[in-house]
Amino acid sequence: MSEKITYKIILIGDSAVGKTCIFKKIVSGVFNEKSISTIGMDRRTLTFTIKDSEGKDLEVEVQLWDTAGQERFRSITNTYYKASQGLILIYDITKRDTFNNVENWISSVKESLGAEDKYLIVLIGNKVDLAEANPQSREVNLDEAEQTCKKDGIYWGGECSAKDFTAEKLKEIFTKYTQEIYKKVGVNIIKAGIVNKPDKIKKSRC
Ligand code: GDP
Ligand code: MG
Repeated sequence: MSEKITYKIILIGDSAVGKTCIFKKIVSGVFNEKSISTIGMDRRTLTFTIKDSEGKDLEVEVQLWDTAGQERFRSITNTYYKASQGLILIYDITKRDTFNNVENWISSVKESLGAEDKYLIVLIGNKVDLAEANPQSREVNLDEAEQTCKKDGIYWGGECSAKDFTAEKLKEIFTKYTQEIYKKVGVNIIKAGIVNKPDKIKKSRC
């Protein structure tokens, strides 16, 4: 009998940075060129295998949430942020504005979620394929992104491409983020409503 560990991980960031494409590729393995703004929040459950504090395999159920495009109207609600342990903050490496807004996103998260030890913010630069095809299209350098993470105390998740990366590669990356969330916030048994550190896991019947 083992506990069911569940993390809520949400995608945030400016409109058109590629949140929905990343979401879709991970959940279905398909990159949708003409991604349509979804109505209502989309969420899926995935299972990732990470290592527990003793190095043993640990299955984690991840509820991955995508917005319905509310960020366009700056109207992400508290419901979206609420009870999330992982916040994947995405910018477009070819659009400076989306990177400049990272600080605003961090402030919104802190405002909504409060205590910083209960969640992990992961910064990702998307659309690296565009910079590979045409280096001049790059508007944000790796160094800057890493510096921002250091300064703001958030985790640097690297650059990615919803277009070129395979679903497996993206899942691998998200497994790593899940591992980092576990390291920071520990075990969160949502169904039992109990939040514990890794060394104090309570038994859950669920
Ligand atoms: P969202 O508003 O953050 O959910 O962004 P979308 O996922 O809807 O993507 C916005 C636009 O960027 C769409 O036209 C996508 O096809 C495009 N896009 C998303 N990810 C990538 C990527 O990794 N590379 C390229 N070249 N285009 C992308
Ligand atoms: Mg979207």
